[in-house]
Amino acid sequence: MRSPVDGHLLPPAHCGHTGNQQCTRCSWARPSDAVMLVALGRTARKATPVAVIVGTILSAVNLGPTIAAGESTYGTSITTVINYLVPYIVASIGYLSGRRRG
Ligand SMILES: [Zn+2]
Repeated sequence: MRSPVDGHLLPPAHCGHTGNQQCTRCSWARPSDAVMLVALGRTARKATPVAVIVGTILSAVNLGPTIAAGESTYGTSITTVINYLVPYIVASIGYLSGRRRG
């Protein structure tokens, strides 16, 4: 997120610092740190809107006819979850790509 005033990168709302500073809550050094940030929901503010939009479009296009016909199966549910999960992960990776320390 960028400041509407000067365009500088703002820290996530859960961080106490300002400006372009980074801490362990909003940046990572090792890949395992990045996985933890996703698991702890630090990327949720960026990734959730993307997942909702992309996941809904993917599900509507690919599964809409099946669901509308009342032919949903357990597999349809799994596919729906994946349709939301994939864009969430992709958006999280995009968010974290600019937040690597060192
Ligand atoms: Zn921070």
